[in-house]
Amino acid sequence: MKIVLFGPPGAGKGTQAAMIEGKYGIPHISTGDIFRKNIKEGTPLGKLAKAYIEAGELVPDELTMGLVLDRISEPDCLGGYILDGFPRTILQAEMLDRKLMEFNDSIDFVLDIDVQDEVLVERMAGRRVCRDCGEIYHIEHLPPRIHGICNICKGELIVRKDDEAETVMTRLAVYREKTEPLVAYYRRKGLLVTIDGEDDRMVVFRRIEEVLEA
Ligand code: AMP
Repeated sequence: MKIVLFGPPGAGKGTQAAMIEGKYGIPHISTGDIFRKNIKEGTPLGKLAKAYIEAGELVPDELTMGLVLDRISEPDCLGGYILDGFPRTILQAEMLDRKLMEFNDSIDFVLDIDVQDEVLVERMAGRRVCRDCGEIYHIEHLPPRIHGICNICKGELIVRKDDEAETVMTRLAVYREKTEPLVAYYRRKGLLVTIDGEDDRMVVFRRIEEVLEA
């Protein structure tokens, strides 16, 4: 099962992808997480990507595409995967389709998680992530058991630099301009299913289960 999780920043893609991975046992591939790991480790890719990410802009396609193609060629992806945050441009989507076509393969589901801008802004303002393991919290809707400390690994919870208010507005604008055209792209292919993403994470997950198991 090959799934593209699609939607604006703050829609809950990372949360839902982790839940899909937990239930269906297919790897969750987040380009954002891969970039953040590279930045933390100070790799050449991390150094190139950092300024774009912190400004809320997209990392150029040529830095992103090879990374995803390599990752989906790994053995744990044979039974499928969940792409979270990729593709984000028409060029990336076309490249992914071409690559899959070489193996007579294709994406099975594109789930578009739909959330209004006001809700997205509120979610990103309250989002906290674990500095060490990347687990996601929200100060009101999903607080950790101990303030500022990750439930899982006891790491420190921080605000992602690109969740700061100004950057969030840039990320939303970039999404509307560069990524939203993919809605029409995947609709034409008959793959797009829109999921109402404004409810509680479990309710949203049940909607996704219904689509995947229909
Ligand atoms: P995310 O965690 O998915 O919100 O991604 C965080 C940031 O990483 C984005 O705002 C972009 O700067 C960068 N990024 C992640 N995925 C991509 C992609 N497919 N293409 C370009 N930039 C990306």
